[in-house]
Amino acid sequence: MMRHRFNPYSQKSMKYVFGNWKMNGIHEEAVALAKAVGTTKPQKYTQVAIFPPFINLHLVKKALSRSSIALGAQDCSPEENGAFTGDISAGMLKDAGCKYVLVGHSERRTLHGESDETVRNKAIAAIKARLVPVICVGENLAERESGKYLQVITRQVEQSVPSLTNPSSYLIAYEPVWAIGSGKTPILAEISEAHKTIASLLYHDTSKADKKTAILYGGSVKANNACEIMATEGVDGVLVGGASLKADEFGKIIEAAGSI
Ligand code: PEP
Repeated sequence: MMRHRFNPYSQKSMKYVFGNWKMNGIHEEAVALAKAVGTTKPQKYTQVAIFPPFINLHLVKKALSRSSIALGAQDCSPEENGAFTGDISAGMLKDAGCKYVLVGHSERRTLHGESDETVRNKAIAAIKARLVPVICVGENLAERESGKYLQVITRQVEQSVPSLTNPSSYLIAYEPVWAIGSGKTPILAEISEAHKTIASLLYHDTSKADKKTAILYGGSVKANNACEIMATEGVDGVLVGGASLKADEFGKIIEAAGSI
């Protein structure tokens, strides 16, 4: 019998479609949306995950039990346990069935004053708890317009990503703050430029799927632009906010990932 050798160059690479529900949805709505999203059948090389508010994690997990869609949380504490009122540890999220956790989303960085160091400590806590952190970075409008955006992204990556980490134990999401929820997106060349800059800062071997850190793009991704964004060089998937709250639109983004 002829044996086929693993050839990393011929391997179709994984595309990630992650839906950040933010602070939306009471129980009933969360279950209905999760069930509707759960009816989509992602292609083999598409990893889909949804990130509901903490309070709905258990219900969404149950609603997704027959689907291949994974569960993620929107934040975690850098601490393991103890007197941290109102916080949720990475271990608790693992226990609730999460595979992923967002850390350093721009809404956490700006509204909760999270520093790169805090984000890095959250990522470390997540990895220790055997979760995959999705480390978010991205410049704001003033930083983009001043032309210093690559310096900002570089600083965020250097200071938010834990060092000496296995490249496939975390993901990065490049989310320009000015594109989030605004309906504006960078042109594809700008997305590619940012992704290449991020990739150049990470220890990874792009010829081997398991030695590569996946880099997602986020910011006003919709059904009508998802395909071209995901087909852009250096883009391994998308982190979707608003459009992940509509099952049919999110379903089209999942389909787009499978078509690339
Ligand atoms: C987000 O919140 O991560 C996001 C990308 O939001 P939106 O898709 O709505 O811009």
